[in-house]
Amino acid sequence: MTKLLENYVAGRWQAGSGKGTTLHNPVTGEALVRIDNQAIDLAEGFAFAREQGGKALREMTYQQRGQMLADVVAVLRGNRDAYYDISTANSGTVKNDSAVDIEGGIFTLSYYAKLGAKLGDKPYLMDGEASLLGQDSSFQSQHILTPRRGVALFINAFNFPAWGLWEKAAPALLSGIPVIVKPASPTAWLTQQMVNDVVSAGVIPEGALSVICGSSAGLLDQLQTADVLSFTGSADTAEKIRSHPAVTRHSVRVNIEADSINSALLLPDEEADSEAFTLLVKEAVREMTVKSGQKCTAIRRIFVHKEHYAALAKAISKKLANIRVGNPQDETVRMGSLVSCQQYDAICTGLEQLKTCTEVLYDGNQHPFQDVDNTVASCLAPTLLGTEQPEHADLVHNMEVFGPVATLIAYQDMPHAVSMIRQGQGSLVTSLYGSDPVNLAQTASELADSNGRVHVISPEVGSLHTGHGNVMPQSLHGGPGRAGGGEELGGLRALNFYHQRSAIQASSAVLENL
Ligand code: NAP
Repeated sequence: MTKLLENYVAGRWQAGSGKGTTLHNPVTGEALVRIDNQAIDLAEGFAFAREQGGKALREMTYQQRGQMLADVVAVLRGNRDAYYDISTANSGTVKNDSAVDIEGGIFTLSYYAKLGAKLGDKPYLMDGEASLLGQDSSFQSQHILTPRRGVALFINAFNFPAWGLWEKAAPALLSGIPVIVKPASPTAWLTQQMVNDVVSAGVIPEGALSVICGSSAGLLDQLQTADVLSFTGSADTAEKIRSHPAVTRHSVRVNIEADSINSALLLPDEEADSEAFTLLVKEAVREMTVKSGQKCTAIRRIFVHKEHYAALAKAISKKLANIRVGNPQDETVRMGSLVSCQQYDAICTGLEQLKTCTEVLYDGNQHPFQDVDNTVASCLAPTLLGTEQPEHADLVHNMEVFGPVATLIAYQDMPHAVSMIRQGQGSLVTSLYGSDPVNLAQTASELADSNGRVHVISPEVGSLHTGHGNVMPQSLHGGPGRAGGGEELGGLRALNFYHQRSAIQASSAVLENL
C-alpha cells in the first residue's frame, strides 16, 4: 500500500478515513502516494483558519508579513531537490519544465516579499489621494484598503501544483489573509509537500496555511461573507463554482482563471527571413512543448498572412522535429509526458475533433518515444495543425486542447486577423511579432480589450523578453470572457482582491490622522 498523505487542517495533520485516491507516475504507471480527506471536519478547519490564522496575520505589519514570505522562500529553496523529484515522478516533466512551476513559485514569493518590505507598518493601505467633497478642503474623502477578515480558499488546477499555490498565497498572506488550498487531485503531492515543509519550519503562524487533498465536496459550503475564493481550472467547473449557493448567498468574492485559446500574430509585412518571423518560430515551438503544452497561457492559435503560411508551417515543423519526447529521467529528452492517462485520452479526443476542420502540418507521433513503454506512458508528441480557410474552421477558436497542439491560421489582412483573435471570446495572452513600432503599438492597444496581457516582440527585445507563456508577477494574469474574467498578480494590484476598499469621509484633521 502506498503512503497516505495527510491534510493540514485546524493546526494539525489529519488523515482521511477513506481508502484514498492513488496518484500515479504518468510515464511508468507506478503508484506513488494516496490522498484522502474523508471525514475531515471542514467547519472546524475554516473556523480555525479565520480565527487563529487571520488574527495572528493581522497582528503583523505588512513589512513583517513580507519577511514571513522571505522565510517561506528560504524553506522552499532548502528543500527544492525533493520538489524536482516529486514533479518528475508525478507530473512527468523534464527538469526545465519542473523549474517553470517550482522556481516560478519561489520567484513570485520573493517578489511579494520585497514589495512587503516597502509597504510600511500601518494596519491598512491608503488608496490614492483625498478628494474634496465641498468648496473647500474642510470635508474630504480618502479611500483606504483594509485586509478582509475571512479565509482565502484556493481550488487549483493540476498543471501548476507549486506556482499555482504560491502565486495566490503570496499576495493573500502579505495582505494578512489565511490560506486554505485544495490542489487538483492528480498532482496534489507537490503542493502537500511544500505546505508540509513550510509548516514544519514554523515560519508562519498557526492557521495561516492549510492544505486539503482529495475531494472538493463540502468545501464551498464553508464559505462566509468575508471569505474569498480563487479558482483555477476548466470553464465547466468554473460555472459550477460561480453558481454555488454559498457563493451567491454570501456574495463571496470570487476570482476565476479558466481556459483560454491564446494567440500569436505575425504582422503581415514580416518576410520569412525576418527576425520577427524567426522569433515567432522559436516561441511557437517553446509554447507547444514546455510542460507538453499543459499551460493555460500556451499559444493555441498562430496567425500568419496567407502569403507566409507555407513558410511558417515549414519552419515550425522543422524545429519541432528536433524535440525528443519520452522519459523525463533521460537527459536527452526535451519533452516528458502528459500529467495522466485521463489527460492523454482528453487531448487525443480534442485533437481528432480539430483535425475535422484543419490539415496536419506536423505530427511528431510518427517518431518513437525515448525509453518508455508505449502501452503505459502518457506521452504525446507535438502536433501542428493548420488552415488556409478559417471561415470553415470555427472550432479552432472555441476548443482548448490542453496539450502539445497548436493551429496555424492564414489571414487575409489585419482586420481579418484581429477579428479572428477576438473569436476566442477573451484570452489570457496574445503575442505580436513585428518590427514596426507604430503598427505594433496600434495592434497591441486594439487587442487589449480582449486580452489580459499583450506580449509584443520586436527584434530589439528578441533576447530579453520574458516569454509569451511565462506569467510574471509584475504583470497582470487573467483575462476577460472565457478566460474567466479574473485578475491575479500585476504587482500590488493583486492585494486588492484580499482587501476591502472603503471611503472615509471626514475633516482634514481626521484624515491627517489616518
Ligand atoms: P478542473 O477539472 O476544472 O479542476 C480544477 C480544480 O477544481 C481541481 O482542484 C478539481 O479537483 C476541482 N473541482 C472539480 N470539480 C469541482 C467542483 N464541483 N467544485 C469545486 N471544485 C471542483 O481543471 P483541471 O483539469 O485541473 O485544469 C485544467 C484546466 O485549467 C484547463 O482548462 C486550463 O486552461 C485551466 N487552467 C487555467 C489557468 C489560468 O491561470 N487561467 C491555469 C492553469 C490551468 P479534483 O482534481 O479533485 O477533481
